[in-house]
Amino acid sequence: MIRDDIDRIGVIGAGTMGSGIAQVAATTGYDVVVRDVEAAYVESGFETIDDSLARLADRDALTESPSTIRDRIDGTTDLEDVADCDVVIEAVLERMDVKREVFADLERICDEDVLLATNTSTLSITSIASALDRPDRVVGLHFMNPVPIMDGVEVVVGEKTTAQAVELAHDLAEEMGKTTWESDDKPGFVTNRILMPWINEGIRAYDEGVASKEDVDAGMELGTNVPMGPLTLADHIGLDVCLHATETLYEELGDRYKPAYLLKRKVEAGDLGKKTGEGFYSYD
Ligand code: NAD
Repeated sequence: MIRDDIDRIGVIGAGTMGSGIAQVAATTGYDVVVRDVEAAYVESGFETIDDSLARLADRDALTESPSTIRDRIDGTTDLEDVADCDVVIEAVLERMDVKREVFADLERICDEDVLLATNTSTLSITSIASALDRPDRVVGLHFMNPVPIMDGVEVVVGEKTTAQAVELAHDLAEEMGKTTWESDDKPGFVTNRILMPWINEGIRAYDEGVASKEDVDAGMELGTNVPMGPLTLADHIGLDVCLHATETLYEELGDRYKPAYLLKRKVEAGDLGKKTGEGFYSYD
């Protein structure tokens, strides 16, 4: 049986998604410990959380003060600090080798009845869990970016994931104020299987001179009523995340998913979107 009495949540990775997940967990009353590999990354995650909480407070969107919420979150570089957590959510970079290593460590450190969730965008849950003695407690809990704003969470069911783990994942996301849907462990799940080719085609349209980047975005925003065009959305997600996701889809599903040349070139140049200040657009 997996523990369903959850007070303390461990979050692995304090980047775009880890900081957002930690913030939402703390906002909904959980104690949180967020772990990254270097203190500077943990600090940067806290800065993101502070900025986001301040903005939400300005809009009267919080029921407690930012400092009360923030006090529920501990930061650490020591993975052992998640040992007393009731559930752990992994949000490290989108690389199978890194995720497998994290999960092997979590299996060693955490109690047997602790749910282990991954926020992967496209990697196979079954494959991430395959190195573990207990793959049945691994589930996909795919939060959307930005986590404090986006309502939806995709629960992804691996080959060995138990029904109880799936139910617990839905319940936890709902306790965190989110609405869930479920996907089988197929490449890209529901969301990225459809979203990434859309972004990729937007990048190709720009790169191949169909229109300026502004007009590619305007065409989709004004023409199809989406809140953000593909290039702006790619900058928000992170171009490295988009490239990894598209590469996974390409490997698994073939030619229609081959990453756009310009997407690879931007990532090679270190222009990853909002998080580095340069992507398709420039940011302060
Ligand atoms: P990011 O690059 O912003 O953050 C990743 C963080 O993980 C970094 O701070 C890095 O230092 C840290 N890290 C690396 N190895 C680690 C380890 N062993 N232990 C602890 N921390 C480690 O990436 P992100 O955008 O937050 O993405 C994280 C995960 O969430 C990825 O799997 C991604 O596919 C998924 N995701 C991203 C988005 C998005 O829009 N960015 C949306 C949904 C899901």
